Amino acid sequence: MSDGTPVPDCLFCKIIAREIPAEVVRETETTLAFRDIHPQAPTHVLVVPKAHHPNAAALAVAAPDQAAAILAEAGEVAAQEKIAESGYRLIFNTGAGAGQTVFHAHVHVLGGDGSLHGTL
Ligand code: IMP
Repeated sequence: MSDGTPVPDCLFCKIIAREIPAEVVRETETTLAFRDIHPQAPTHVLVVPKAHHPNAAALAVAAPDQAAAILAEAGEVAAQEKIAESGYRLIFNTGAGAGQTVFHAHVHVLGGDGSLHGTL
């Protein structure tokens, strides 16, 4: 089980430590929300736990309170970005085969575009 310890070569741990710049939109004691550097929608924000866990499923097992916290923060981001009413998508890529490229748990908050309806 992951223990939340920061990982030196983890991109998101470096953003959390302010070693790499990011456009932060919200911060709590345990979470950080910042804009994705390659936005896939008019609003595209990543919400991460400050503790390092490799993906959302591992986070939910090791620290369920923080899994709940990133979901709650995703909702706060949507409200702040004014996409809550029109609707938004939350995406957790889990594993390289599903497109996960950064192995620090995160949820994508995507919205602001009426064409965001997927097949699921
Ligand atoms: P994943 O593919 O689900 O792992 O999502 C990782 C996301 O991190 C991708 O959408 C990238 O565009 C994003 N990303 C990579 N580097 C940075 C950065 O330095 N700042 C903000 N977002 C980043």
